[in-house]
Amino acid sequence: MDLFDSNSADRANLPRNMIENSMFEEEPDVVDLAKDSAAFPAFPALDPDEVAYEPRSSRLLVRGLGENDMDDEEEDCESSARLLGMSFMNRSSAHRSTSSPYTRQAPPRSCSRPSARTMVVCVLFLVIVVSMTMVLNFLPGCNFTRAGCRKPNKTAPIEPVYPISTNGELFPWALLRLPRSIRPLSYDITLNPDLGSMTFTGRTVINMSVFHSTKRIVLHGANLNITKATFKLGDGQASNVTVLEYKPNQQIAVKFSQELKTGQYCVLTLDYSASLSHTYDGFYNSSYTDKDGNKRVLAATQFEPLSARKAFPCFDEPAFKATFLIKISRKSNYISLSNMPKAKSTVLPNGLVQDEFERTSVNMSTYLVAFVVADFSPISKNVSETLVSVYSVPEKKEHAVYALETGSKLLEFYNNFFEINYPLKKLDLVAIPDFLAGAMENWGLITFRETTLLVGNESSPLDKQVVASVVAHELAHQWFGNLVTMSWWNDLWLNEGFATYMQYMSLQTVFPQLDIGNLFLSVRFRAMDKDALNSSHAVSTEVNTPEQVEEMFDSVSYEKGASILLMLNASLPGDQQFRKGIIQYLKQFSGLNTETDDLWNSLTEVELSTQHLNVSEMMSSWTSQKGFPLVTVSRKGDQVELTQEHFLLTSDKATHSSSLWNIPVTYVNDSCSLAPECRQLFTLKNKSGSLKVPASVKWLKLNYRNTGFYIVHYGDEGWAALISALSQNVSVLTHEDRASLIHNIFALSRLGRVSFHLVLNLLNYMSNETETAPVTEALLQLNTIYRLLDKRQESALVARMKNYILKAFGSLMNKQTWVEEESVSKQELRSALLRTACSLKEENCIQHAQSLFKQYAESNGTIRIPGDLQEVVFTVAAQSERDWATLLNMYSKATYDSEKRKMLRGLASTQDTQSLVWILKAGLNGDIIQTPELPLVIATVCNGFAGYLFAWDFIQQNWDSLIEKFPVGSFAIQTIIKSATSQLSTQAHLLQVQTFFSSLKERGSQMRSVQEALETIRLNQRWMDQNLPTLQKWL
Ligand SMILES: [Zn+2]
Repeated sequence: MDLFDSNSADRANLPRNMIENSMFEEEPDVVDLAKDSAAFPAFPALDPDEVAYEPRSSRLLVRGLGENDMDDEEEDCESSARLLGMSFMNRSSAHRSTSSPYTRQAPPRSCSRPSARTMVVCVLFLVIVVSMTMVLNFLPGCNFTRAGCRKPNKTAPIEPVYPISTNGELFPWALLRLPRSIRPLSYDITLNPDLGSMTFTGRTVINMSVFHSTKRIVLHGANLNITKATFKLGDGQASNVTVLEYKPNQQIAVKFSQELKTGQYCVLTLDYSASLSHTYDGFYNSSYTDKDGNKRVLAATQFEPLSARKAFPCFDEPAFKATFLIKISRKSNYISLSNMPKAKSTVLPNGLVQDEFERTSVNMSTYLVAFVVADFSPISKNVSETLVSVYSVPEKKEHAVYALETGSKLLEFYNNFFEINYPLKKLDLVAIPDFLAGAMENWGLITFRETTLLVGNESSPLDKQVVASVVAHELAHQWFGNLVTMSWWNDLWLNEGFATYMQYMSLQTVFPQLDIGNLFLSVRFRAMDKDALNSSHAVSTEVNTPEQVEEMFDSVSYEKGASILLMLNASLPGDQQFRKGIIQYLKQFSGLNTETDDLWNSLTEVELSTQHLNVSEMMSSWTSQKGFPLVTVSRKGDQVELTQEHFLLTSDKATHSSSLWNIPVTYVNDSCSLAPECRQLFTLKNKSGSLKVPASVKWLKLNYRNTGFYIVHYGDEGWAALISALSQNVSVLTHEDRASLIHNIFALSRLGRVSFHLVLNLLNYMSNETETAPVTEALLQLNTIYRLLDKRQESALVARMKNYILKAFGSLMNKQTWVEEESVSKQELRSALLRTACSLKEENCIQHAQSLFKQYAESNGTIRIPGDLQEVVFTVAAQSERDWATLLNMYSKATYDSEKRKMLRGLASTQDTQSLVWILKAGLNGDIIQTPELPLVIATVCNGFAGYLFAWDFIQQNWDSLIEKFPVGSFAIQTIIKSATSQLSTQAHLLQVQTFFSSLKERGSQMRSVQEALETIRLNQRWMDQNLPTLQKWL
């Protein structure tokens, strides 16, 4: 999935940040126990029939010790450990963290090869627990509940181990993860959507095999009204069965009196009806207004991560791969699409047409199933064995040409690069008018926002870069994610980190003119900014609840994942090692599920042949712990001492971290600093290490071209030498290295390691800087400080900061033109400079923008504003009441989606309070401004002084509506929280934010992004306290 916070103008600036807080990680609850059972075979469920009327713990233990669901000793030990953990946890949740033998620190894996001693300890432990349990059981009137042994109290409710189904019967499964005893093999799904009543009926036939003998089938189903269910075992007769439902876990189940035996095959057929979803997940209804002003409805799907269960009953976890045959009925003036090519169409007695799609030729995870019923039109092209098509609403068909050309080239590139051909006969890219994510990689049927797929011929290269990059991301998923899939959402980065890395890598190779390098660089900087917080999380992180799964879609999985892959690739010898490793990985695990170690092992195997570094050893230090290192350099003559520590931004002085990374430190020096051959490599595995350089070396620059995921502190002398070198000649370093120095010094200032005076000293060289990456990084950092000062109403400092920025960048700003510009890099530079200039009310900039808007508005569509300048121009226009109204009128009529988005940013930047209130409401309402744009609206409103408190009030007042539209933990919610809080820096605001989020309880108080918001406000507060005097002195 692409999260799409990117937009052509302010991409690097937009939040991708919402990060986990380990403080909020709960100790494993009963529901957490399946976490290590992701791989088959694993811990089978307890049979509820045996526990229903017993004091639970004793019964559980007896079963744990005596049952033979597990095949060998190893699993017996494991399940016993789990059961022990479970019974303890059931008895006293208060003591879970310390008394449970089943905690993260001691995972059941430690049982995998039990020594005799371990066995003795296990047995002794069991005996003690059984005895304790029996004693407790004999206490009069004692019941075991989560709250422990309660005093007799007839009215106190007793919480059962197994939950109660909607019909009052005991539901045979208590965990969030499904049991592993039954595996689906194939699904036959028939769907009849009614776009008039916004409902659908369905029939799902699931063929399954029994992996472990069991008396139950448990699968997912959410909001499905099951009207009929039949079950057939082997060649037997089908008979009606009762389906139990446990809504909180979105699970349904069938219980049997006789065991289904290992190796047997069975078929479950379920008929159901449901409403089309009115949010953006599941099988949902969407609509658009055509060019004649008519409302056209359609239905589309978005299943990742947990919503396939809302469209059909299924084993909705990525490791349960199966084949799918889909039939879907439609009106004759509509088309339907699914993952596979259409096999046949039949006219039904009711006049509707039923399309039947070929059975998927590949096993796939449920989250990749997709279907669309709409009145779209395609354009198509053959690429090798695959028919590539781009679908859009009919009137935007000509906007699809660029995506078709780009998609076709990228498909060819990936076919060659991975040495595995895309396995399906067709690949559809579909622009959905009302779509929340940036895009979704459903196998063979990739869905996009219109903005990320459709561009006009005359759209700017920067707009095309957005489309190319999202298409490249989703196509990479066809291998990374679809062909080889993570076993569970804890390793989501295997999908997203890879697709993000491949998106930049493929574009650099196939479309060098799109100049994607600057974007990738800034994305890496932003990933570090977020990962520096104490609320961050490891790339590979345990997740259980739906909210935790949603929260994995964040910058750590995407951008940090991509960054560490870049670092690995850059530290391997030659340019083919990395590629060979991933080809081996894809071939070895084709059609299967993997964990992070599988990837490192594949890369290590290829690597071994060159006797170089152990990839597994190096990379696990980057995926298993949160954060990244700060490398400090100190030099005495020819001796260079490097030390590493956790770069941890925290306002809490008591927080210590002893994390160590295996860092491939690269460095160049003044005698050779630009060409790749200059780069030298030193592996820093320990707390410190030393290397030698010739005594004549004047300065060192570490992290060559910023390919490593670490920050460097050069010490006073080191910084002074670099600053002096740059002030004499900016070209002594690559532009990536210059940008990396700027990023690092601001980060060090935030950490409190360098004074702001040193930051300003480095920035002095900027008067000679003309390259995009260093300028945009410096502007971004300075604008962030400017906004913080602005929000604190430090008006004297705001004025001085404004003067400082205009003085430092004024000559470069004045050199910018307002006509079409072909180079992407120059467009990026120009839009960043002019956006800053106009936002600081620089006269020249404002005049140019106003006159361009006037010409544009009066030309009736014949004059175009260059794509990279549209946002600047619209933002300036929106500051006048009259032009705001003109812009709103244009917005409602605009057809180019990228242009439309920039108009929206302009509209949301108004400082008029009535208009601000209107636009926030309109975004929530969804008629004039589509609701998926609301996070963008809020982010833009929050940037301005007039709007940020309105937006914060709006979020508090409308929280329930917001989480109805966007799931708790989702990227949209993460963006909203980040936008509203990241510019606050006072104690009063901190308290307000804290009070509001803690009042939410289960409606979002536990989100990582809340923790991140609080941490960020505290850090802002600290930075202000420490640096206001410096700013007053030096600006
Ligand atoms: Zn993705």
